[in-house]
Amino acid sequence: MQPLRKAIRDMAGYVPGFQPPDNEPWIKLNTNENPYPPSPQVRAALLAEIGAEGENLRKYPDPGSKTMRQVAAELYGFDPSWVITANGSDELLNNLIRAFAGEGEEVAYIHPSYSYYATLAEIQGAKIRTFGLTEDFRIKDFPARFEGKIFFLTSPNAPLGFAFPLAYIEEIAQRCAGMLVIDEAYVDFADFTAMALVKKYANVVVTRTFSKSYSLAGMRLGLAVTRPEVVAALDKIRDHYHLDRLALVAGRAALSDQAHLTATVAKIRATRERFVAGLKEIGYTLIESRSNFVFASPPDGNGKRVYDALFARKILVRYFSDPLLAHGMRITIGTDAEMETTLQALGEIG
Ligand SMILES: *Cc1c(COP(=O)(O)O)cnc(C)c1O
Repeated sequence: MQPLRKAIRDMAGYVPGFQPPDNEPWIKLNTNENPYPPSPQVRAALLAEIGAEGENLRKYPDPGSKTMRQVAAELYGFDPSWVITANGSDELLNNLIRAFAGEGEEVAYIHPSYSYYATLAEIQGAKIRTFGLTEDFRIKDFPARFEGKIFFLTSPNAPLGFAFPLAYIEEIAQRCAGMLVIDEAYVDFADFTAMALVKKYANVVVTRTFSKSYSLAGMRLGLAVTRPEVVAALDKIRDHYHLDRLALVAGRAALSDQAHLTATVAKIRATRERFVAGLKEIGYTLIESRSNFVFASPPDGNGKRVYDALFARKILVRYFSDPLLAHGMRITIGTDAEMETTLQALGEIG
């Protein structure tokens, strides 16, 4: 047998949401992608970066992502030394664990939230602790002082979609002895961000992704805002050329077109409200969503039955067999037309 590390031998590995081939006619509402294209400036920037003969691709990209960091820093009101870019926010979650949690040290997150935290902690050999949620969406039994090395707080939550109030997030920051990583993958669809806490608390990191609101899941782009000491640590750990030339210019162009972001997000939020109203009419139970998806339960509380019936109609949503989540499905908000088709199908499925 190969001398694999025990942590790797024992772990199952993360299973991403199903990605059907691009040319198959699915209505794809299972991985919270954006149904609209990114800013047109992204395409223009990509073509320009490639060059007429692809000649620019000969050379390595800027290992420091300098321009993209500057654009992000200016947008969020920080010095560039407080910003780090990444190959998807997943890279940041991974490197935060590598930076702060050694083997056997504690990493915690809320269950249910993003299950990839567990995979990353397992690879590192860190100890995993999960906290449940109360009925009113607060963290169950969170200690007055949490001594673990990292606590991942997904806000808005995935897969449930609600956001924690800012004052509550601040209280959690005060109660964490280690790092509080606020995973704001969906925050552009919500009403407020916790970014201001980064200035106030040395142990706070806010992570963002370009995969949802910026329509760039295929480019693999994320960023984090945190103290320069933490940025410097993360810079030591990452691959030196973690972002390719195309990702760098795409990220910069996307950040620079806030008008496109605002318009796209407004459309998705409006579609979300219409879809929610329609679901309620057919007897579904919903959690109020601050995201580009809803967690919805059919009247009989059998998520798998409805998931299968939608699948048969080539409508793909996300079902989780976990007992806490099996009563419903996570449904990404697509275009109005996609959501109308889905709503009609749900009405027929009953
Ligand atoms: C989608 C998602 C991510 C990952 O984003 P990438 O930038 O695509 O790696 C991280 N956290 C949560 C909660 C997500 O839903």
